[in-house]
Amino acid sequence: MRRLALLVLGSCMTATAAVPVASPSLSAAVAEAVAVPPLAFRDRTLANGLRVVSVQDHSSPTVSVQVWYGVGGKDDPAGRSGFAHLFEHLMFKSTKHLANEQFDRLTEDVGGTNNASTHEDVTNYYAVVPSNHLERLLWAEAERMSNLDVNDANFQSERAVVQEEYRQHVLADPYGRFFESFAPRSYTTHPYRHGVIGDIAQLDAATLADVRAFHATYYRPDNALVIVAGDFDPSELDRWVDRYFGAIARPQTPIPRVDVREPARTRDTTFRETGPNVPLPAVALTWLGPSARSPDAAALHVAAALLAEGDSSRLYRSLVYRQEIAQYVGFSIDPTTDAGLVVAYAIGANGATPATLAAALDAEIAKLASRPIPAAELAKVKLQLVTQELEERETPIGKGMAIGEAVVYHGDPAFANRDLGELQAVSAADVQRVLRRYVIDAKRVTIEYTQEKQRKATPRSLRQAKATPHPAADGPPRAAGSKP
Ligand SMILES: [Zn+2]
Repeated sequence: MRRLALLVLGSCMTATAAVPVASPSLSAAVAEAVAVPPLAFRDRTLANGLRVVSVQDHSSPTVSVQVWYGVGGKDDPAGRSGFAHLFEHLMFKSTKHLANEQFDRLTEDVGGTNNASTHEDVTNYYAVVPSNHLERLLWAEAERMSNLDVNDANFQSERAVVQEEYRQHVLADPYGRFFESFAPRSYTTHPYRHGVIGDIAQLDAATLADVRAFHATYYRPDNALVIVAGDFDPSELDRWVDRYFGAIARPQTPIPRVDVREPARTRDTTFRETGPNVPLPAVALTWLGPSARSPDAAALHVAAALLAEGDSSRLYRSLVYRQEIAQYVGFSIDPTTDAGLVVAYAIGANGATPATLAAALDAEIAKLASRPIPAAELAKVKLQLVTQELEERETPIGKGMAIGEAVVYHGDPAFANRDLGELQAVSAADVQRVLRRYVIDAKRVTIEYTQEKQRKATPRSLRQAKATPHPAADGPPRAAGSKP
């Protein structure tokens, strides 16, 4: 994100007192499927290839304008990791008719908000403003799509910001290197292995010409999706969209697309990673999962929630609360357009080693995959997931996000009206089938993460003479080499 570095997985540690949640006895009524009203969207494509999806919601006098560009970390040029992320920042700099950061004046200064985030497959820009500011915001989005000022000063300043985000969120965080190692250790071939946040040395090596070429290649109407959700008049919207976006030319050059396939794993592998400040050892187990479009994605989503969603989840109750061997546990499925990554991880407590943690994660996963899953537990988890999604969709920005994800990951805005049904239809047998297929019977990568070895003990007299400063967490660029 622009103001917070995007980390695919959060690395926060929670050390709150464990409170066990009694097994809920949900009534049959609660366990029944929740009927979700569909998002009534309009979907049109302009002659220049720009797709525009809009959803009306007049419950508040606000409107969300979002632009999703079909470019993400996987599209970073070879040796230029972090370009998609760099552009997320550059888009807030000057254009032909906007000064640096004027986008904030058009949103925050009228009571709205704006932000952006870069992912493996997509970069999205999203704002919400009072609905009488809609026309101005559409103009501003069209302006930065077509007239961005990619100059040396903007490039230098935003490159420094992205590099600082890397230092802050990867190098300075005791577990930053751990979470950042999941993708490069898990993918052997697909560019997902390079992550999203960037690489200090590669960004340093970039030139203004590289950056301009990247912009010309991906920031264009036929590679963008405009989403407008909230309080607007459809005919007015069409008129403004045509006026401001319709005139932007579609480039003649094709848009390069990643067509690399990640090969199936043939064996289990273990990597031992270290960091300069690792108070407690950690372990991650990773498996190649299905892409977002797979019919198995919903069942894996429910399996992940059973294992690690909240303090009443299985991994939390077992590793953190009962056994007291972990400080923090997680199970993520991260489905993307070309592949998916399933990760179980734990940060230790009370002297637990990576091997102990891995065995405990394995045991809980095996139990979930083989023993009957109580109906009330399954119902509770599905209700948690549906509630989270419905809460998000209460706002124009959340409705827009649901549409954007449906288009990017499923190629169809209508998926936003099917996904919660798919989630609620997941059975205990589905959960166990996908766990067996993608986890239990699959080849895995183990990442052990521990404190790096201290320097060899040196006699006191020598130590004083040779004392060198302790390498700072935001030290020289070589630290970025922690990525393989
Ligand atoms: Zn950023």
